[in-house]
Amino acid sequence: MIKTWTTDEILHATGGELLLGETEHYFSGISIDSRKISNDNLFVAIKGEVHDGHRFIQSVIKQGGRGLIIDENKANELPRAEWREKGVVCIAVTDTTTALGDLAAFNRRRSDVSVVAITGSNGKTTTRKMTATVVAQRFSTLSSRGSFNNEIGLPLTLFNLEDSHEWAVLELGMNNPGEISKLADICLPDIGVITNIGPAHIGKLGSMEGIMNAKGELLEKISPGGIAILNADDPRVLKLKTRNSELETRNKIILFGLSRDSLIRAISVKEEKTGVSFTLSLPTESIPIHLGNPGTFMVSNALAAASVGYALGLSAQEIKTGLEAFEPVRGRMNHLKTKQGISIIDDTYNANPGSMEAAIMALRSLKGAGRGIFVSGDMRELGEYAESMHRKLGSLASGTEVAKLYVTGEFAEAVATGARDKGMESCNIFIGTKREIIEDLIASLKPDDCVLVKGSRAMKMEEIINALI
Ligand code: ATP
Ligand code: MG
Repeated sequence: MIKTWTTDEILHATGGELLLGETEHYFSGISIDSRKISNDNLFVAIKGEVHDGHRFIQSVIKQGGRGLIIDENKANELPRAEWREKGVVCIAVTDTTTALGDLAAFNRRRSDVSVVAITGSNGKTTTRKMTATVVAQRFSTLSSRGSFNNEIGLPLTLFNLEDSHEWAVLELGMNNPGEISKLADICLPDIGVITNIGPAHIGKLGSMEGIMNAKGELLEKISPGGIAILNADDPRVLKLKTRNSELETRNKIILFGLSRDSLIRAISVKEEKTGVSFTLSLPTESIPIHLGNPGTFMVSNALAAASVGYALGLSAQEIKTGLEAFEPVRGRMNHLKTKQGISIIDDTYNANPGSMEAAIMALRSLKGAGRGIFVSGDMRELGEYAESMHRKLGSLASGTEVAKLYVTGEFAEAVATGARDKGMESCNIFIGTKREIIEDLIASLKPDDCVLVKGSRAMKMEEIINALI
């Protein structure tokens, strides 16, 4: 059962002012989408980048909604007499997004659930999904949907907490310093996981140091006696650990990775056409694992999930069952095949320098004896580093046996330059629009070719996948 909300509880959680309505009125849920609201839901009007929820409050009431949280600046514009007659509850707050977080924090605190929070530059959603399937082998588990990992998505996830839930596995994302800290204050993690630290969003965070500090905010927020689960193969994660001298006294630390000093290790990693295999080594037992996803980086994500399973007392067999039940997320290293037998790797969901590198490395082993073809779109949010990081991407592609490179976007020329400088011949580099790339691919692909398509979300690189499949 999902817990219900009284007006009193909402006022208490948000510190808002009751403009209209009864304190005993109760709501069965909280929503920010006026199209999906049901009569006994409370509607929180959020100012998003595109829409302002306040534009829809009239229609919420028309649809039968009887509860609103609005910005205090809108308090003068309400049809009070009409709404009073209808029994509408209306609460004013200084910031509705903060209020949404406050409600989620209240809900988390009144439940008995324990929380795993996962952050990192790459692999958050994958690791979160894997972890949730592992934990669900033993416990009733709530998990975020999609990439619900910000000040809106995290609260919406926490509103789904039910009395029966024992664990919640949550993803924390960020674009700016202080955000992880804020999200952790909402969800109060008992276990904190850092997958890796790379130059994602470096444009906004200024430097690698800035990124490290931002991820490090999670470590400071793990509840005393809780557990920090850290990637021992990532020097920046290790640096965070050593720098945070209090961590070891306050929390238990579990290291995972390929390196010998990890408690949870992968040995004999083998990249295969159908995915990747390894032996999972736990302190007490070892067990073979096969993941149906290409990419050695999947092993790292699986180790993070296995570490959570181990921390929760799951057996090696339970962890294996969980990991092997994991199904890949759309647009993330999905291995597809065309009728002509051409392999397509759909990694179009997003891109940054770290995930680009991981994907190119995966292409190298997946292509087998065929040609490896890389279709690359811009990596966004790199600020002043954009030019140099796109060049670096080009030289990486050139140095890793990419037979043909297709580039599109604002930084296409930079990628091409990087590739040429590293020795790739101009005839193997194609710069063009997505449409031009599609035409050239369709005309030139051969069976046994393996095509990797990847770029930032805004590049909509899936249009190329859709045209090929
Ligand atoms: P976002 O910040 O967009 O929510 P995310 O951190 O949730 O991303 P995922 O959605 O799990 O990450 O994966 C995105 C892409 O990152 C994958 O398609 C893959 O190319 C790459 N990736 C996943 N895991 C790792 C990893 N451990 N190391 C490097 N790259 C990875
Ligand atoms: Mg994500």
